[in-house]
Amino acid sequence: ARLRERLASLGAGSPVVRQEHRMVRSDGSEIWVSWAERSLSSVSGAVVEIQAIGLDTTENVHAREALRRSEARFRTIVNSVNEGILVLDPDGTVYDVNDRACELFDREHAAMVGASIGSFDRAGAEGVLVALRDVREERGPVKPFAWDVRGERRRWHAEVELRAVDVDRRVRVVAVVRDVTYRIRLEEQLQQSQKMEAMGTLATGVAHDFNNVLTAIVGHAEIARAEVPSGTPAARSIEGVLSACDQAAGVTRSLLTFGRGTAARPTPTDLTAVVGSTIDLLRPLLPDAIEVACEIPVARRLWVHGDGSQLQQVLLNLALNGRDAMPDGGRLTVALREERTGDGGEDARQTVLQVADSGSGMSDEVRSRVMEPFFTTKPRERGTGLGMSVVHGIVTAHRGTIRIDSRPGHGTCVSVRFPYCAAPPDAGRPEPRGARRSIDGARILLVEDNDQVRDLLDHALTDRGLAVTSARDGVDALEHYRDGPDGFDLLVFDVDLPRMSGTACLAEIRKSGGRQPAILISGNPDITIDEDGPDVVRLLSKPFRMDEVAALIEELL
Ligand code: ADP
Ligand code: MG
Repeated sequence: ARLRERLASLGAGSPVVRQEHRMVRSDGSEIWVSWAERSLSSVSGAVVEIQAIGLDTTENVHAREALRRSEARFRTIVNSVNEGILVLDPDGTVYDVNDRACELFDREHAAMVGASIGSFDRAGAEGVLVALRDVREERGPVKPFAWDVRGERRRWHAEVELRAVDVDRRVRVVAVVRDVTYRIRLEEQLQQSQKMEAMGTLATGVAHDFNNVLTAIVGHAEIARAEVPSGTPAARSIEGVLSACDQAAGVTRSLLTFGRGTAARPTPTDLTAVVGSTIDLLRPLLPDAIEVACEIPVARRLWVHGDGSQLQQVLLNLALNGRDAMPDGGRLTVALREERTGDGGEDARQTVLQVADSGSGMSDEVRSRVMEPFFTTKPRERGTGLGMSVVHGIVTAHRGTIRIDSRPGHGTCVSVRFPYCAAPPDAGRPEPRGARRSIDGARILLVEDNDQVRDLLDHALTDRGLAVTSARDGVDALEHYRDGPDGFDLLVFDVDLPRMSGTACLAEIRKSGGRQPAILISGNPDITIDEDGPDVVRLLSKPFRMDEVAALIEELL
């Protein structure tokens, strides 16, 4: 029917018309025919004849269809991969791209094709253009290289592989581009945490050894002070030594806090209260030009499993850094809130403490180093470089994380996140206190391997009227103890001892029924002890002053 219609429409003297038709043979099979038709007419203009030449093009049509389908299939495959694929002319002009490449470079397909790859990077992509030249000359794949892409909207890390291939009868280069930003971030984080760990080990080691020396210096100075008449120049010098030792002890304390976190016994701590009291403490330290804004929930309290005075230290250090960053005044914001991530549940809850300032901000270079002990950009007399190290140590010990958002000239926001902690049922109950008793004549078993520290303790405690038996290691101490188990009122053990540690020795004594109160001395703040057991045991960390030891002994007895 269609054929007849077409023939009828052929006017007299019309030119040749070509058309391709699908027809069905009498046996039902399909055939494609390409027709060339024209009409011949008489002098009067009437159509007298139609000439039609039909050519069987079935095979052509099928081949074209197969080609179309295969092209669609390859497009789908190329567009489904997670790598950006760009076909480039040797000069860097884009010849073709897949969908992922458009996504990565944040441009429409039409805006990609014909543009130079250099225009995708504000820095010009010099490295890519050089590699393009190399790959053409070598005619082999170039080993993958990194490209730090500064796009219009985002900066990201790419890994690129190039290969010269013939595309459409010309040598072109296929570039496979992978977004490796996430991997690079992870690598940086890993590197950063390894660096912090190494520094922590170093800091702890130095502080540990130094504390032994410091303990000896303080002790000897105290003994000397007792023997030198007060008011003399010598007495003043000794006071000078003692106050310098106090400062030195502050530095080692910070180093230890940085390196290992702390031995403090964590309890559910009311962070809302800590923040409130710290802000009261802070106000007088801040000049009037700095406005303090608090965003703290009034209706409910947020708790953190930790140590109140350390948490206070965190906020103080952060706030003081904010102050230092705003010499001409500005705004310091302290915010406290709970954050929920994901699907609820306790693990998804976090308590967030945020300190933001409108100050100088910092460069990426500074930001990556702030936690390092002794890293400071401040003049010698202002900065110690330990503030953020201490923050890092404390937050890590509290199983928290720190995030710093900052840009030069745009202020800084430090967010500290702590794991969720429920409010304790017995919040605010006071601790029971024992009655006091004279310590005169009390019998002490003292174990300490450092000769200087041991002599000092021995000397100082004897001076205070105590009967001291001293030993230099755990085995030695155990022998003394077994000689007369009832001969001691109190045990003072260093934890790190040769042959048998102080804790092991104490465990032996407990096993044999010894119930005396004990003091464990340690230069390592990592140590935790069970203070809730049936027997009294307290931890004393180095360096300590003799007054502290005496006070603790008095309390325990
Ligand atoms: P310090 O304050 O003694 O220099 P910190 O460890 O507290 O030591 O800080 C280290 C460095 O980090 C500072 O010297 C400063 O360069 C940078 N820094 C810390 N906090 C801020 C802040 N809020 N704004 C700008 N820079 C900061
Ligand atoms: Mg500081």
